[in-house]
Amino acid sequence: MTTDYRPMWESVGLDLEAHDQLLQALPPAYGEVYMNQFNRPAGMEYFDFVVSEIHGLRIHELQQHKAAGGKVIGTFCVFVPEEIIRAAGGICIGLCSGIEIGTAQAEKVLPRNICPLIKSFMGFKLAKVCPYFESCDMVVGETTCDGKKKAFEILNDYIPVHVMETPQMKREKDKSLWHSEVQDLLNRTEELTGQKITEEALLQAIKDVNGKRKALLRLSELRKNNPAPISGKDCLLIEQIAMYDDVSRFTQKVNELCDELEERVKNSQGVKETTAKRLIVTGTPMAIPNWKIPHIIEESGAVIVAEELCTGLRYFENLVAETGENMDQTVEQIAARYLNINCACFTPNEGRMEKLLQLAEEYKADGIIHCALTFCDPYAVEANRVEKVLKEKGIPLLRIETDYGQEDVGQLKTRIEAFLELIG
Ligand code: SF4
Ligand code: SF4
Repeated sequence: MTTDYRPMWESVGLDLEAHDQLLQALPPAYGEVYMNQFNRPAGMEYFDFVVSEIHGLRIHELQQHKAAGGKVIGTFCVFVPEEIIRAAGGICIGLCSGIEIGTAQAEKVLPRNICPLIKSFMGFKLAKVCPYFESCDMVVGETTCDGKKKAFEILNDYIPVHVMETPQMKREKDKSLWHSEVQDLLNRTEELTGQKITEEALLQAIKDVNGKRKALLRLSELRKNNPAPISGKDCLLIEQIAMYDDVSRFTQKVNELCDELEERVKNSQGVKETTAKRLIVTGTPMAIPNWKIPHIIEESGAVIVAEELCTGLRYFENLVAETGENMDQTVEQIAARYLNINCACFTPNEGRMEKLLQLAEEYKADGIIHCALTFCDPYAVEANRVEKVLKEKGIPLLRIETDYGQEDVGQLKTRIEAFLELIG
């Protein structure tokens, strides 16, 4: 970052000293993970730029939006319909929580043994190091797991939190509950922004967000080719950036990158040899800057061809129908799309098993790596079902449980290399 953003950071209320420590940790990690990749597409330059300006340009845009009377709403889950926030003229920002930060402060209000993602978001807020968090006028939480549900009560002491009750089943009565929760979010957003959401604005927002999803789906399709035209690490990064970048600009840049990748595919150019093992990563979402597992996998010679993650396919597969004939039907169609997400909070969650089998076949995967964050019960427990289903179909699986620390890198590397040899 060349511009001096310190006055802006100070004005949003960051603890500048703690924030400096965070920024010092980020650039070296990024250089090591991203900049030395073989035959990287030129179109990644935009996404490198976004990361280099991670607390700069985008925050400046958010501040300008706020100065003009707009609102910023933060989320921690792909269940929160961003179409609604957009239709009310707000900006929806997916808050990351992929690094251990503010642990001491977080542990004053949370137990020590809780998932790193929850500890991280509380740490970010209490240590005042995230300019996105500090730019938010409200955060939308959800009841997808007990840890988060209870943590949002505590977070509400520091920033207004609106909680959506997410059902844990997908029966008719759960559908009506979810529909009413989406309607409540709409009402709350109108109240916060002071802007009435019209049907026209909602349909436009649906088109815009679908446009982003279509660009990401196009990118995913290209990864079915061998050699893989782009690395899994780069795709994960793009999927992480999707959650906070400007929707139209991001869509355009992903499509430009896809144009380049189509050329690569025509010329059989890739980032790895055609003999590289093709893997799918599944499990708990990997928020920025949690690139640990993908980095180890691709450094070991394999290539990740799909992410069955919320920082991945769960975020952009399935579009919202653009055919709503009145407000209620449009809201219902939004609710229907989101309830289709295969989060491990559902019981049963057969959709995820079917999806994994389908992906393994379509992407010609040699194996699947299941990553759960430590203390993430929904995914750690569901790994049993995943293992059973994949075993029946003869698809190799490696189960990993890890956190945001670097202590287990050596051990993970050994296990991943052994897995690659096994499926070789
Ligand atoms: S895993 Fe479930 S709770 Fe977590 S972000 Fe995804 S949908 Fe939300
Ligand atoms: S679903 Fe897992 S990773 Fe996500 S917040 Fe809950 S315990 Fe943490």
